[in-house]
Amino acid sequence: MKRLHVAIAGAGPAGLATALYLKRAGHRVTLFERFLQPSPLGSGLILQPTGLTVLADLGLFERIAALGHRIDRLYGADAATGNTVLDVRYDAIRGGRYGIAVHRAALFGVLFEAVLQEGIAIDTGHDIAGMDQQGGQAWLLTAGGGRLGGFDLVIDASGARSRLRRHALRSCEPTPLPYGAFWVSLRAQPGAAFGVNSLVQRYRRASTMIGVLPIGRPSAQDGPMTAFFWSTKPDEVELLKQAGIERWKDEIHRLWPECEPYLAQIASFEQMTLARYGHHTLPLPYGERLAVIGDAAHSTSPQLGQGANMALLDARALAHALQASSSPEQALPRYAASRRRHVRTFQMMSAAFTPFYQSDSSWLPWVRDKLAARLSLVPPAPQILAAMVAGTLVDPFAAIGLTERDWRDGVLPLPQT
Ligand SMILES: Cc1cc2nc3c(=O)[nH]c(=O)nc-3n(C[C@H](O)[C@H](O)[C@H](O)COP(=O)(O)OP(=O)(O)OC[C@H]3O[C@@H](n4cnc5c(N)ncnc54)[C@H](O)[C@@H]3O)c2cc1C
Repeated sequence: MKRLHVAIAGAGPAGLATALYLKRAGHRVTLFERFLQPSPLGSGLILQPTGLTVLADLGLFERIAALGHRIDRLYGADAATGNTVLDVRYDAIRGGRYGIAVHRAALFGVLFEAVLQEGIAIDTGHDIAGMDQQGGQAWLLTAGGGRLGGFDLVIDASGARSRLRRHALRSCEPTPLPYGAFWVSLRAQPGAAFGVNSLVQRYRRASTMIGVLPIGRPSAQDGPMTAFFWSTKPDEVELLKQAGIERWKDEIHRLWPECEPYLAQIASFEQMTLARYGHHTLPLPYGERLAVIGDAAHSTSPQLGQGANMALLDARALAHALQASSSPEQALPRYAASRRRHVRTFQMMSAAFTPFYQSDSSWLPWVRDKLAARLSLVPPAPQILAAMVAGTLVDPFAAIGLTERDWRDGVLPLPQT
C-alpha cells in the first residue's frame, strides 16, 4: 500500500483511534472535527475486554486503567421487591476478564493526548456535510459551503448523526428508540448499596431504570466520580421539567433511598445530559474512497455497553485491512467483512434486549423478572451473559489480526469504593 492521504471526520473514540493506527502505519492523516475545541459529550461508559484490548494494542491501556474504575459485576434488582433481576459477573468465564468504567473525558483525554504526541493534524470547526469525487480523489464538503481535499480515503467517524454515511454503497438512518436517559457525573459516594467494582441498577417494570456506575477520574487531578442515570422518554421530558426537579428526586428517593447522597448533588435538570438513542446498522459500511466506522456505521441503545468498544474494534479492523491490502478499493470490503459477524450479532442482541429494560411493555419485564432472572443462574447462562457483556460472544479479535489481552498480568490498579 502506498502512503495515503487520509481525512477522518469526527474526533470521537473511533476517529482518534483510527488516526493513531493510520499515522503509525505511515499514512498522512488529517482529523476534521465539528467543534472548535474537541471535547467529549456525556458522562461515563464501560470499556469492555474488547475495547481494552484495542487500547492495549495502541499502548494506552495503562493510562486508561490509571484513570478508570474496575468493573467485575453488573447487578440489577427490582425496586419494589429487591429481587435480583440481573447478575452478570465477568469471572463466570475463566481468564480473569473485567471491564473498566471511565469518565468520557478520561477516554477522550488519553486518545487525544496520544494523537497530539504523534503530531497528527487536527482541523476544527468543520461541520462535514457530505463528500464528492473529482480527479481520482475524494473531497469533503462542509455545511458552510467549503471544500476540503483531495484525499485518497475518507473515514466517516462522525457518530450516530453522520451526514457522510449516505455515500456508502448501502446506507440507512437510525430509527429513534422511545426511551433515552438522563446522565450526570457526580462526586463518588461509596456505600454498601452500590457494591464494590459494580454497575448497580434498580428497575420498576421496564419504564424506570436507575443506574449507578463508578467511573474513576476525568483526569489525574480530579477526584473519583460516579455516573448516575435515569431512563426516560425524551418526549416526556418537558412534562417532567414542568413538575419540577424536587418531584423527580422524590420519586427516585422512594424507589431507591440509598441514592440520597447523589440526589443531593443534583440541583436542576440542566445539570444533566439527556441522551437520545437510535438503532441502525449499515448493510455495507463503505463506498468509493469511503469507510464508515463507529456509531456512524452502527448505533444502538447502550444497554449492552458495547458502542465505544465496537468503535475501537472498527478502528483496528480498518487499519488491519489497509495494511493487508495493496489499495483502498481492496481494503474496504475486507474491513467490512472482518467486522460483519461481530457487529450484526451485537446489534441484534441489543435490539432484542433493550425492550426488556426500556419500554412500555408490561409482559417483557414480567418475563425478565420471573423467568429470565432464574434461568440466568443456570449454566451455561452465566457464561453466555458474561461473554455477551464482555463483547466476546462472537470472537471479534481473529478477523482483525488481534490477540486478546492477557487479563492476569496484574497491571491493573484496583480502585475500590
Ligand atoms: C448515555 C450513553 C451511555 C453509553 N454507554 C456506553 C458504554 O457503557 N459502553 C460503550 O462501549 N458505549 C457506550 N455508549 C456508546 C458510545 O458512547 C458510542 O458508541 C461511542 O461514543 C461511539 O464513538 P464514535 O467515535 O463512533 O462516535 P462519537 O463518540 O459520537 O464521536 C463522533 C465525533 O464526531 C464529531 N462530529 C459529529 N458530526 C460531525 C460533523 N458533521 N462534522 C465533523 N465532526 C462531527 C462529534 O463532535 C464527535 O467528536 C453510550 C452512549 C450513550 C449516549
